[in-house]
Amino acid sequence: MKAPLILLAVVAVLPLWANDAATVGSPDGRLVVTLDVQDGQPFYCVAYDGLIAVGPSLLGLKTNEQDLTRDFSIKAVETSRIDEQYSLDRSKLSQVHYVANRLLATLATSRDQQLQVEFRVSDNDVAFRYLLPKQGETGAVRVTSEATSFSFPDGTTTFLTPQSDAMIGWKRTKPSYEELYVWDAPMSQPSQYGHGYTFPCLFHEKIGEGTKGSKGSKGIADELWVMVSETGVDSHYCASHLSDAQANTLKVDGAVNTYTIAYPMPEEQNGIGTADAAIVLPGVTPWRTLTVGRTLHPIVETTAPWDNVRPVYETSHQYKYGRGTWSWILWQDDSINFDDICRYVDLAQAMGYEYVLIDNWWDTNIGKVADGTAKNPTKSIEKLIEYAHSKNVDVFLWYSSSGYWNDIVQGPVNRMDNSVVRKREMQWLQSVGVKGIKVDFFGGDKQETMRLYEEILSDADDHGLMVIFHGCTLPRGWERMYPNYVGSEAVLASENIVFDQRHCDLEAAHATLHPVLRNTVGCMEFGGSFQNKYMNRDNKPRENRHVNTRPCTSTFSLATAILYQNPIQNFALAPNNLEDAPAVSMDFMREVPTTWDEVRFIDGYPGKYLVMARRHGDTWYVAAINAEPQKLVISLDLSVLSASSFTLYSGGDNPTAKPLKLKHGKTLLTLAPNDGAVIVAR
Ligand code: CA
Repeated sequence: MKAPLILLAVVAVLPLWANDAATVGSPDGRLVVTLDVQDGQPFYCVAYDGLIAVGPSLLGLKTNEQDLTRDFSIKAVETSRIDEQYSLDRSKLSQVHYVANRLLATLATSRDQQLQVEFRVSDNDVAFRYLLPKQGETGAVRVTSEATSFSFPDGTTTFLTPQSDAMIGWKRTKPSYEELYVWDAPMSQPSQYGHGYTFPCLFHEKIGEGTKGSKGSKGIADELWVMVSETGVDSHYCASHLSDAQANTLKVDGAVNTYTIAYPMPEEQNGIGTADAAIVLPGVTPWRTLTVGRTLHPIVETTAPWDNVRPVYETSHQYKYGRGTWSWILWQDDSINFDDICRYVDLAQAMGYEYVLIDNWWDTNIGKVADGTAKNPTKSIEKLIEYAHSKNVDVFLWYSSSGYWNDIVQGPVNRMDNSVVRKREMQWLQSVGVKGIKVDFFGGDKQETMRLYEEILSDADDHGLMVIFHGCTLPRGWERMYPNYVGSEAVLASENIVFDQRHCDLEAAHATLHPVLRNTVGCMEFGGSFQNKYMNRDNKPRENRHVNTRPCTSTFSLATAILYQNPIQNFALAPNNLEDAPAVSMDFMREVPTTWDEVRFIDGYPGKYLVMARRHGDTWYVAAINAEPQKLVISLDLSVLSASSFTLYSGGDNPTAKPLKLKHGKTLLTLAPNDGAVIVAR
């Protein structure tokens, strides 16, 4: 890993008097954070181009020892500049140049209890956190709550997904970040479960709507997009989310609808482990991030999740990313047998894919004999791994994380929750040449659960194993923090398209949301890009029975292989697709990369349509999809990609790949509902 280069400019220390506001602006000067105190309550605001992005919002926290939310004045302010370059090998951008202005404010109460707040402001991102100094003999505290809030003006609409109740759903496995998004909703709409919303949270502010805005004669109001998220959460803290909108208690002009940082629910993880965060002093909280822009460009292109985190450990292994097949997605539990997995190994080989994922029940069902018992299951799975290796395909194996935090019976269970058993298992995995594990069904966001994620990752790295999490929390900077971390589900993923016609019908709408929301802050192991129309084994309708049927086209699926980003993509292809899917589509899926150097938002509106481009080496892949009920005609300016040859994949379920001629760098693209297109440019 390339060593980060950090240049810190001259540090200025300014003494301040109570009620004197401190400000810090981005390098381009457009994004400005103001920190102030009113009646002893610290608060901040964020402006972009002079427009209010985040109105006056509270700062502070409570520990079991101290109330650090009031009686404050600003004691001192330091400013400095950060200029750093770093590499990412499994995210949306491979080389990042992070330039930010930093402000560190020391707040003190009348009894000189101190709390520091640090802001880092780059051109479209704000990251901030609290630093708790050690004062007196106390060496550790429990942080019991935060006042930290985010206020938005009236008329703002929201793009949010709720936090669920704890210990509900399938085998009591929630919360697992698998809830529906509600898009373009008013702030007054309560969350589904009353527990607020999981990150990332997107807000669309329409400023001066109905009046003549800066765009003059068109009469279009000004607008801002603001995304709130969190990063740098590891075993040292719990993960948080946002509350429902509440009235702001701050008595400052412009303080309106406000969302507050909320900690896990006590019931998570079967009630075991505290909902508070326990920290050693001096200590820090995770970074809370705000991404702000006048368009969706900064939201889709943000690197806020990685800019301010560091690798937790170094690795001695070289991990290889790529594509995989998995039988479970379409053929489900019945496919976890020797012969069916061999067919998916053969499919991986035929596609030139690097991996096969063997899903739940492999520990008992591989090598099962007629009487229902397995004849030496370990030997059977080893034989299957050997078969995969003979076809040049490497293996991922599924595990349940549990444990005492759900009712999961799918095996293997109880091998990932305990370090003694886990290390023994991983030693065996390494000895038989398994390259990674998919660990499913975690118990929520408590610090205890964050510790389990980190321990699984750390032990796995000791044994050269990559890790994918499912039924899990949002990754928070983990692509840079953990060298063997290769993906999380944390989304209503492809399995729902198999389970439920409603998700077939919503596939296109969701595909316009995820790249702008969930997937922009972290790897998303969606497991999609089906070429099946019918969600069954033979890809055929039934005469007297409903079969879940995808309205989305073959070309649409190609677009999602670009729109969805994860360094290892387990695509939902099936052996029959070698015969029944369009050859053009299968050829595309043979070539599609899973690692990227750059990303560009081109056009779109979450819930309606989306056009995005990703670059791999010197090749750009432009992906477009339409989730609207009517035909979409869109003018694309591709001159920004500085490419000379363009190939258009289009044509719905009968795609063609044809050379595309641009006129002055532009082309007109027409997409039917539930259809997509890909332009490969180099
Ligand atoms: Ca799942």
